[in-house]
Amino acid sequence: MSTISGTAVPEVHAPERAAIIDPAAIRHNVATIAAYVRPAKVMVAVKADGYGHGAVTAAHAAVDGGADWIGVAHVTEALQLRAAGIEAPMLAWLHTARTDFVEAISQDVDLGISGWEIDEVAAAAEQLQTPAHVHLKVDTGLGRNGCTPERWPELVARAVEFQDRGLMSVVGLFTHLAVADEPDRRETDEQLEVYRWAVETAEEAGLSVSLRHVANTPAALSRPDAHFDMVRVGVGVYGQSPFADRSAEDLGLEPAMELRTTVANVKQVPAGQGISYGLTHRVDRPTSLALIPMGYGDGVPRIAVHAPVRIGERTYQSAGRVAMDQFVVDLEDVDTEVSVGDDVVLFGGDSGISAADWGTAAQTINYEIITRIGSRVPRQVIDSERGRPDDVPTGTAPGTAAGTTPGGTAGGAW
Ligand SMILES: *Cc1c(COP(=O)(O)O)cnc(C)c1O
Repeated sequence: MSTISGTAVPEVHAPERAAIIDPAAIRHNVATIAAYVRPAKVMVAVKADGYGHGAVTAAHAAVDGGADWIGVAHVTEALQLRAAGIEAPMLAWLHTARTDFVEAISQDVDLGISGWEIDEVAAAAEQLQTPAHVHLKVDTGLGRNGCTPERWPELVARAVEFQDRGLMSVVGLFTHLAVADEPDRRETDEQLEVYRWAVETAEEAGLSVSLRHVANTPAALSRPDAHFDMVRVGVGVYGQSPFADRSAEDLGLEPAMELRTTVANVKQVPAGQGISYGLTHRVDRPTSLALIPMGYGDGVPRIAVHAPVRIGERTYQSAGRVAMDQFVVDLEDVDTEVSVGDDVVLFGGDSGISAADWGTAAQTINYEIITRIGSRVPRQVIDSERGRPDDVPTGTAPGTAAGTTPGGTAGGAW
């Protein structure tokens, strides 16, 4: 057969695997959230490489879409964005004993302060003779980062002292919510109550801040009483729903990542054929199998079972374990239209499959699915409104803008 010699395998113009990133979707989602929370400002979280979308791509699109601030976990992430020319106000909130506060202040990166950092930040400011811009963080119940209410008055007093000495300017007071994705839970009310107390305590001690910020995406979309002066949104900006019972579409959000590849092989197998490592799955009838050239080395979770996969016009399910480089889809019939080179979409685009569906198949959430797509998968930035592929990885030609990759000409199953 011609497919064996390889002569019928289509010429490759597009990456073999790609996460197609659409800045237009990010702009739309930021604008949608901003319209909802106005007059509150919007900080867009682009930590963890923009939740897997590319931090610089995400930050540019966020600013174009109306973001007022950019948020990251680490100072190193903020410095990379500054080096890439992102000039928006920026906050970094998770520090270690090795964090370079001097560089952060020099590059005009605001710093979240939960406790011990305050002395380090003041020392860095003193060294530079430049006041640090800080946002004090109170732990109102999440039990993670943030100053406990018990020590809050002490932290506030220290901040007042450093502010009076010209070493810092306290511009924000913030906290992070634990259960905002379940809007009916009363713990959010309890956290907001502690937060209001923390703000009052800070004001009584002499701080007057312009940025009180609490809400993540779920709170921005479900708790107007948590909007305050600014919301800090991540997952919604990438077109993902933070709620288990509402889709992105329900929320008016557009997924900004489409994960695609092409069918690497198609073959007919007899009843009883075992599939992939561990032989955890055996087909109970003769069928055809499609080989999908992505695996956990690309961020496709090994644990995913019966995950949906779009091939051509139909949605199939994965069968057996995901391996490092590949997994198998049962085409449900011996006779199949599917052939080598056909387009495969794991989620996003017009597939009708969401990262949340993969989350369900892999016992996790959409956040983790998008964020963990690996570095072996090129990010191909294709703006659906501007129609111009930016940042196309070297060695690949543009050409997937219409969602097509060359293919479909290889022979049938063998
Ligand atoms: C990641 C993060 C956010 C954004 O959360 P989403 O649920 O993605 O909107 C907001 N605030 C802090 C402190 C964060 O770490």
